Amino acid sequence: MSAKRSLDDYEDVVPAGTLRLVRLLARDLAGRAFLHVNSTRAGGGVAEILNGMLPLLDELGIRTRWEVISGTPEFYVATKRIHNTLQGADLPFTPAMKEIVIETARRAARDLDLESDLVMIHDPQPAALVEARHANDKWIWRCHIDLSRPQRGTWAFLEPFIRRYDGAVFHIAPFARRLPIPCYLVHPSIDPLTDKNREMEQGEIARRVTALGVPLDRPILLQVSRFDPFKDPVGVIHAFRLVRKVRDCVLVLAGGGASDDPEGAAVLTHVREEAAGDPDIHILHLPPDAHLDINALQRAATIVIQKSTREGFGLTVAEAMWKGKPVVGGATGGIVEQIQNGVNGFLVHTIDGCAFALRRLLADEELRHGIGARAREYARRNLLITRHMADYLQMLRLHTS
Ligand code: UDP
Repeated sequence: MSAKRSLDDYEDVVPAGTLRLVRLLARDLAGRAFLHVNSTRAGGGVAEILNGMLPLLDELGIRTRWEVISGTPEFYVATKRIHNTLQGADLPFTPAMKEIVIETARRAARDLDLESDLVMIHDPQPAALVEARHANDKWIWRCHIDLSRPQRGTWAFLEPFIRRYDGAVFHIAPFARRLPIPCYLVHPSIDPLTDKNREMEQGEIARRVTALGVPLDRPILLQVSRFDPFKDPVGVIHAFRLVRKVRDCVLVLAGGGASDDPEGAAVLTHVREEAAGDPDIHILHLPPDAHLDINALQRAATIVIQKSTREGFGLTVAEAMWKGKPVVGGATGGIVEQIQNGVNGFLVHTIDGCAFALRRLLADEELRHGIGARAREYARRNLLITRHMADYLQMLRLHTS
């Protein structure tokens, strides 16, 4: 659904209590100004969530705005370095990089309108904007990455900025740092009405999946992921081989991003080599806007795999759970928060463990349906955009009342 959505459209989809809570929380916040700042208007999870949520907050009478910090190519090199070194990469974060990050923030502070009751700054790229905060406004830093093992030099650069905020928000507790300001945990979310997640007729599912060259006559095991070593696509192939010794099924590895990312291209080549000669392994390199195809694949899958060895929150898990699928996920990052092992999915640590869970699910239709139904209900209550809005509205109340 690409048309503008309204809160009423969510009425029959999300828990009634959540929608009531959202409306209640917003009641005396009408007219309050809520500004978001990030570094891109398209691409990536942050932009996707803001695109979906801001019009809905607007509808509730909150005056929402979205500004984007932009800079020279050197700025993006520096912020990519911040991103990677905060997540543990052993690369230099140089004085010149620090300078360009601060300079870009100072220029952006002159160009952007930063006045708002609550300002939410997303991720490290625009964090230094806090130097320009208006005295009476409240500023929150919303972190979308894993800060559990940052390179010390990069965190030492960033931390003094973060300490000047009124609060910091993390996806999950293990990603947070100890800070002298209030810290909150807010899971990200998916939008049940977008092309990626909307309901889809069986006919459309079959048409799309067939057009992608995937047969529908056997159970489909699916992993949707960027071609990234931490998503362990090669481990998925090895697990599939173990499963196929006892069950006829096909494996689909669907992902994108390899064309503009040399590391992704190398992983994709490796995956293709591993799968070579096996007609039951389908490797699909999808364009960035293949939302309907991903939706169809997730709905056609018998089991969804997300065998990551390291993960952020893992929104593909949320997407598959929402579609009522049993998910076999690597026990890492946000996957551990979403899957309760044996209840609404399976958590695995190894290739053998992954193969075992897949075999167990393939052999037992009742188990698949039970796990899938509990996954759907878990996602409905915890992983949808309306719950996320309620969290942000509470923050708005807390900091601006
Ligand atoms: N995704 C996509 N195309 C792809 C691979 C992934 O649109 O080829 C989407 C996927 O459906 C999900 C998001 O990208 O919405 C990935 O989020 P996740 O948190 O799972 O992983 P990340 O890529 O952020 O590490």
